[in-house]
Amino acid sequence: MRKKVVAGNWKMNTLKDDALKLASEVVNMAKDETPADVTVIMGVPFVHIGSVKALVGGASNVFVAAQNCHTEESGAYTGETSAAMLKSYGVDYVILGHSERREYFKETNAELAKKVDIVLKHEMLPIFCVGEVLEEREAGKQKEVVGQQLEESLFHLSEEEIKKVVIAYEPVWAIGTGKTASSAQAQEMHADIRAMLVSKYGSDVANEISILYGGSCKPSNANEIFGGADVDGGLIGGASLASRDFIDITKSY
Ligand code: PEP
Repeated sequence: MRKKVVAGNWKMNTLKDDALKLASEVVNMAKDETPADVTVIMGVPFVHIGSVKALVGGASNVFVAAQNCHTEESGAYTGETSAAMLKSYGVDYVILGHSERREYFKETNAELAKKVDIVLKHEMLPIFCVGEVLEEREAGKQKEVVGQQLEESLFHLSEEEIKKVVIAYEPVWAIGTGKTASSAQAQEMHADIRAMLVSKYGSDVANEISILYGGSCKPSNANEIFGGADVDGGLIGGASLASRDFIDITKSY
């Protein structure tokens, strides 16, 4: 059974007090308002992980994600954060391959494959982002680009491993731009991703993998986007910084 998932990506936003306020609002509102079958995830900056995790406590439907981790176990990598460190703070999910990391930090599909492996090794769940840039969409190459990202970063995984991955389709031209993919464009790519999963792993496995849409998703468009047969939820950037909007999106199925 595919999980319904709404994951926030706070990116490099929130000071200490803002983070605690936002997280406690999300936890309280999710408890009262979010349907029980929806998994709510807050993707918080590294520095806030310990305190946000403490605040989430035993909430049953709210989880904490990191936004990145390093490929190696430990060592001389000044400024970096390992998967084992994240696990030691009780992190549940790790967002990997976000387009901002691919663009600004030059993360490659091969490097991301290593990050996926180390996150799984430490028993956390990757939220793996794929998506094409505008020129690729305009050239009609979106399926090819996304297929290559899946092939090179995920398709070495075993059936048991791939079932633990949440895939987020985020057309790069829709991230933070206010320009959302139409619900038809989102569903079309989600169906393509599902078909690629079916041909690699078979339909039983493919039907256990949640595929989220990301890109200017907000309360006013979430319902329509989440209506797509292969759309299992959203990865939410800007709108995850306002607790009311974020929780409203968790109710948009
Ligand atoms: C994101 O960064 O993953 C994202 C989807 O951002 P936004 O919702 O702001 O477009």
